[in-house]
Amino acid sequence: PALIAELERTGQIAALTEAAQPAPTAPMAAQQDEIDRHFAAATLADLTAGLDEDPSAFAEKAHTSLAKASPLAAAVALELVRAARAEPGVPQALAREFRVTWRSAEEGDFVEGIRAAIIDRDNAPRWRHTSPADVTGDDVAAMLAPLGADELVLGGHTREGEDAMKIGFIGLGNMGAPMAANLAAAGHVVTGFDPAAPCPEGVTAATSGPEAAAGAEVVITMLPDGKILRAVAADLIPAMETGAVLLDCSTVDVDSARAVAADAAAAGLLPMDAPVSGGVGGAAAGTLTFMVGGPDAAFAIARPLFDIMGQKAVHCGPSGNGQAAKICNNMILGVTMIATCEAFALADKLGLDRQAMFDVVSTSSGYSWTMNAYCPAPGIGPESPADRGYEGGFASALMLKDLRLSQQAAEAADADTPMGARAAELYARFVEEEGGGSRDFSAMLPRFEGRGRSAD
Ligand code: NAD
Repeated sequence: PALIAELERTGQIAALTEAAQPAPTAPMAAQQDEIDRHFAAATLADLTAGLDEDPSAFAEKAHTSLAKASPLAAAVALELVRAARAEPGVPQALAREFRVTWRSAEEGDFVEGIRAAIIDRDNAPRWRHTSPADVTGDDVAAMLAPLGADELVLGGHTREGEDAMKIGFIGLGNMGAPMAANLAAAGHVVTGFDPAAPCPEGVTAATSGPEAAAGAEVVITMLPDGKILRAVAADLIPAMETGAVLLDCSTVDVDSARAVAADAAAAGLLPMDAPVSGGVGGAAAGTLTFMVGGPDAAFAIARPLFDIMGQKAVHCGPSGNGQAAKICNNMILGVTMIATCEAFALADKLGLDRQAMFDVVSTSSGYSWTMNAYCPAPGIGPESPADRGYEGGFASALMLKDLRLSQQAAEAADADTPMGARAAELYARFVEEEGGGSRDFSAMLPRFEGRGRSAD
């Protein structure tokens, strides 16, 4: 209280230094010798035996604590600490802990511990091992063994024991360049080609697509549209090695994706379509979502690459299904954005405050991602392109591209999509007649604001 009063009166932070008291002695510091002596034991069994023979209060307390624990969990915890010392690094330490956590329910004592302490409360757990001496080195090693495709990979590093892959990357535009750079930064050997864009740092430039693809285990394409993809793939496929993965991450029509996949498969390649969501920001940050179509074998090979370039990859089925998922998602997005914008414009005309409109809709049955997470009204809801004059974000021209792909697919599949068709029409007008192409797709709101019922 005296310090607070002093600070309030003078405003001088020097009072803090004067009031500071020496740090209390760390209670464990005094036990350092005992800790070092006991915990240097080679195994958990040796450690507990040593504690058992030591009459000190420290040893008794440590022994009692360890006796309550699952022998396997205690042995694994000891090994985790030692492994962190032998191979330091937070990503590595978290990857090891992830392996243990991953297995603890099925292969460890986690469930039994919960049963004994929380469900039955009998405090009489029946552990897999009756004592520390029962736990073998193999038991501990099995809990810590790498998880293969399920391994936790943080900080964009290749998995432990995983060799760097040889990757060809074709199309180094707004999306492709940061994706290729992330793969290179993670330790993969990336050779890139783009006739118009420079290679990002870490990526070796080739003089053609086939040159970048030669000898690559995975060739990634990130191109403007299906027509270009078909032409590029026709050049790449003969240059690729049998069994290599042809991974197209562009957003293209389902027919082009399936045609390219059929040609690649006929040439002995593993094709995959994996369009992304997350935009340029997600590509740079390595947080894209991949919607993947193609064979399981290709997905397994590409999975570590998805982990580097993105945060989620959903395997949607055979070739073309990734594109199908992407255009269905974006058709919903385009339609709901228009619905959200026209509702705001109507609310304005009815004299309803925008904040009140947001507060009601975002917590009522009209809620959606476009209202709750990407609100098109400036100053309302979480920050979005509307707060930056509708700059950045997802350009209306790209939304139009995706809506047209959805309508092209609907036509081919004879699906009735009246709302998707209307959204495509409105974005076409906004982009092609009203100069809205480079504005964020939520700029539909200012468009509706200025219009009356009779506007065409
Ligand atoms: P972009 O125009 O910036 O990049 C495309 C690149 O492909 C260009 O650099 C171009 O030179 C290159 N290219 C064209 N023809 C080529 C050829 N024959 N060989 C090699 N390279 C060639 O486009 P982008 O924004 O990077 O988008 C790429 C794809 O990703 C598109 O299909 C797009 O729909 C999709 N996508 C984009 C976003 C986004 O926010 N930009 C978001 C999700 C998906």
